[in-house]
Amino acid sequence: MNKFPIRCFTCGKIIGHLYREYEYRVNKGEDRGKIMDDLGLNRYCCRRHFLAFEGVEDRSILINEYVTEEVK
Ligand SMILES: [Zn+2]
Repeated sequence: MNKFPIRCFTCGKIIGHLYREYEYRVNKGEDRGKIMDDLGLNRYCCRRHFLAFEGVEDRSILINEYVTEEVK
């Protein structure tokens, strides 16, 4: 199993310390998009790491997040 990256490869934001909270809240059934918003993960490049690491196969989550960001 891969180790979660300390930094976002794309923008360099430090994200490694956020994964534990993310995982905890996902297990409680919270919405992934909302969790990432709360953690300050506004960029698509950073959010992608969380979804990919968790093994989320649903591409529609990624697409929806991307569209949402473009609209802002
Ligand atoms: Zn990033």
